[in-house]
Amino acid sequence: MSIRARLYPTPAQAEAMVVHCGHARFVWNLAVEQSNMWRRDKGPTPNYVAQAAQLAQARREHAWLGAGSSVVQQAALRDFDRARQSWWKNPHHFSRPTWRKRGVHEGFVIRDLTVTKVNHRWATVHVPKVGAVKFRLTRPRAQVTAATSARVTFKAGRWHVSLVTPPPVFDRKPTGAVTGIDRGVANTIATSESVMGSIPGWTPGEQARYVALQQQLARQVKGSNRRAVTKGKIARLHQRLTDRRTDWIEQTTTTLVREHDLIGIEALNTRGMVRKPAPKPDPENTGVFLPNGAKAKAALNKTIHASCWGKFAKRLHDKAANTPAGAKTLVVEVPARYTSQRCHHCGHTAPENRKNQAEFRCVDCGHEANADTNAAENILSRAITLAAGQAVDPRPRRTVDGRNRGTTTTASTTRERKAV
Ligand SMILES: [Zn+2]
Repeated sequence: MSIRARLYPTPAQAEAMVVHCGHARFVWNLAVEQSNMWRRDKGPTPNYVAQAAQLAQARREHAWLGAGSSVVQQAALRDFDRARQSWWKNPHHFSRPTWRKRGVHEGFVIRDLTVTKVNHRWATVHVPKVGAVKFRLTRPRAQVTAATSARVTFKAGRWHVSLVTPPPVFDRKPTGAVTGIDRGVANTIATSESVMGSIPGWTPGEQARYVALQQQLARQVKGSNRRAVTKGKIARLHQRLTDRRTDWIEQTTTTLVREHDLIGIEALNTRGMVRKPAPKPDPENTGVFLPNGAKAKAALNKTIHASCWGKFAKRLHDKAANTPAGAKTLVVEVPARYTSQRCHHCGHTAPENRKNQAEFRCVDCGHEANADTNAAENILSRAITLAAGQAVDPRPRRTVDGRNRGTTTTASTTRERKAV
């Protein structure tokens, strides 16, 4: 959560803050350079602690750096460290931290923030070595003063502050309700109570517009102004879809967390699934590669990204973590293996149970259900087992009379993977 407000520094304050921006950028770019110098044979690059020590030394050696605010400079290092870690952990969502340019990336971070209310319209934020800088109060005072850190930016002659506030407590009462969620391609989500949800896509009109814009782009000269305009139009179309999907994820996860005390979801390795499969060398001809289904997987990858599963799970976890004590929602991730092949009624696990994408019919007991609902029920059972502190064994069971309840042959495992 962050609150953005326009800052109104006095000319003297603005001058001092420009110096902060320069120092923060200098420190950040040094950290980028150190991280870029990393080579496999030269051992690890200095981490935040080592860099902080180096900065302290540099401040003693260079008077101009030492004259600046150490709080601002250290915060720039930590800012870089956090950006690098986010990128390292989740390269799909975060880009690698790069150089900051003068006149483009003007700003700095303040940690251990002090925000003071002046009157009902104005408040101040304390900037190290600058003092209290005024900003317009646009949100309730309690929200603003709860801010823990801030980012000050300077662009097009204007100063802004982004106050980072802790997420609000998620308001809910215990309901006693539990649910399992199967995440899929045909239905983005299906719950164990047969509730289906689909993430919104483009309208037919938008789709036609997209195709038309793509054709227009192909005809235009590279680097031309007209081409840039078309690119902007395409970007806005994409943004509109992203916003719509974010709204859907926000609304759906809020409802789910509000209504359930326990939510079971699959522990899907979305990162593993979107990785391009390694080419298989042909053992008989060196240098020749066998087909590995990369094309089919690429098509599925698109849909996976489109369904935004990772984002969905993250928001579910975030919101559940902010539920009040005494009314906690528990989100349990369960092993996804065989949840789509296992009969929820009798436990028989076989790829033949899955008649097609939508229908499930157990070849052993004849139980019929929507395939996604059946999978969601299995996910819920596993979540309840895990929440009770017991282990879940996702492998198919064998019955006492020796009858095979589900097969563990290679054929069925491959098919399971495809079904997921
Ligand atoms: Zn059955």
